[in-house]
Amino acid sequence: MFRPRAQIRPRIYPPLLFHPLGGCGEIGMNLSLYGYDGDWIAVDCGMMIRQDLPDQPLQIPDVEHLAAHAMVPSAIFITHGHEDHLGALAWIWPRWNCPVYATPLAIELLRAKFIEQGLKTDALKPVQPGASVTTGPFNVTFLPVTHSIPESCALSIITPRYRVLHTGDWKLDERPLIGRPLSAAQFQALAPVDLVVADSTNADVEGHSRSETEAAGALEAVIQNCRGRVVVSCFASNIARIKALGGIAERSGRRVALLGRSMERMVSIALQLGYLDDFPPRVPTHDLGYLHAEEVLIIATGSQGEPRSALSRMAQGRHPAVDLQPEDDVIFSARAIPGNERPIERLKAGFKRLGVSVHDENTDPALHASGHPAREELRQLYRWLQPKMLLPVHGEASHQEAHRELASNLGIQVPQRVKNGAVLALDAETLVSTIQHHLRPQLIASRMRPGERTSPVSARQHALTLSIALNVLPTATGWTRIGRLLWDSETSLPLDEEALTDWLDARIDAITAETLLQLRQQLFGPLRDWLQQRLPVLPEIHLQLMPVDPQPEYEVRTISSR
Ligand SMILES: [Zn+2]
Ligand SMILES: [Zn+2]
Repeated sequence: MFRPRAQIRPRIYPPLLFHPLGGCGEIGMNLSLYGYDGDWIAVDCGMMIRQDLPDQPLQIPDVEHLAAHAMVPSAIFITHGHEDHLGALAWIWPRWNCPVYATPLAIELLRAKFIEQGLKTDALKPVQPGASVTTGPFNVTFLPVTHSIPESCALSIITPRYRVLHTGDWKLDERPLIGRPLSAAQFQALAPVDLVVADSTNADVEGHSRSETEAAGALEAVIQNCRGRVVVSCFASNIARIKALGGIAERSGRRVALLGRSMERMVSIALQLGYLDDFPPRVPTHDLGYLHAEEVLIIATGSQGEPRSALSRMAQGRHPAVDLQPEDDVIFSARAIPGNERPIERLKAGFKRLGVSVHDENTDPALHASGHPAREELRQLYRWLQPKMLLPVHGEASHQEAHRELASNLGIQVPQRVKNGAVLALDAETLVSTIQHHLRPQLIASRMRPGERTSPVSARQHALTLSIALNVLPTATGWTRIGRLLWDSETSLPLDEEALTDWLDARIDAITAETLLQLRQQLFGPLRDWLQQRLPVLPEIHLQLMPVDPQPEYEVRTISSR
């Protein structure tokens, strides 16, 4: 009798594709795509964190090429609520119009952004930490991790044949103030994984990150010794730190006031989600004047030197409700985001001029705890996960390199440096780069709506000019700008007038120059650099400085009131 011979052929699996569009070789603007057998999902959709300042242009990832290459994602997964992970979504989502999965806090932050941009919010799908979502060939599980905002999750991404862990931002904190320490068992259960796509922010830092409990202790020690008003500046998203400050205020007999719109928004969402149940009642800003100095604790945003923040106004002695005195203290409980060092220094110098004591990471390193893993923590996670391959993301080239060296020493394969725009293919044995897409900077003015996006100015459109004319007035130490800023450009450049004005004012005030020529020489280079960071193509700059005679007072007034 005829019997067909059983044919046993090894099943061929397609490779798992990975396509970073932001965050690879830079800190900020995280967006990664995963593709399997023609289906795509996106992880995170952030904006450039250096530009996360009021009214500054924002940079969002370039997704132009995806439609032409059939790589449009059918679902988006957000790891946590930081701007560098979700800040660009309201701009990019209308192109994809697909479900967005995130934990409740991130969903509420997104909901506010979507409403602000006039978008419908029914695509926003809250997922509890620990839960899974299946879409196409992908099974995605939200694994809770400790970080500097509650409900942060790593994502385990499982397809037929492949297991990937996308870490998101994380640290090992045995004593977080909100949530539980990370569960080792949950990560050990995934081992061995084929690939870890991993946070490199502190891959060049030896040792272990500080616990949030320790930072709270350091804050309390400093505040208990303060005699006058205390102002603490931290990131609005650091709800654990804000919670700690509520407790410290109660124990030190102080009342809490919150300053800053993002602080108000974050605290009201955190209250709604039950993270600040025991937070003391807040004092309205306009009532601060009725309290004795030693009864005041102000929590404020503005730690990055943002020019129009309440903190900046206080430093200039121009805040309507808070007039700081020499016995008062200002505490910076946040790190300086690279690029913001100069405005932060200017801010601190302002407080010192008022005679106010400034406490920061230099005077007391324990005042801030990083939310990212140092080298001991990275090694620990990789011992649990037993990854075959690792891709260092969320870091600049030097962080990626330090991470690569660490992982290689643990016997993990790491590809050569990967940049945004690369398409990598993972199979059973290797992770190799296949194509490199060329990405272009996408800048948007923060007040624009998604529909009116400016297309980036092409590098081929040369000979753009930007003319700026300033009225300047000599002062005892140099110059100050008065009146309206006049600027004109042949093409409409995506430039925020208020941001430019603020920057020019601060810059001119900081320059000590006797002559107009010296002022011009010291202003021109920084102005060109400032524009270069914010515009897709640097225009030809015409800078005209017009001195105003300080003597006839009516003339000055006429100009400044125009
Ligand atoms: Zn991040
Ligand atoms: Zn983060």
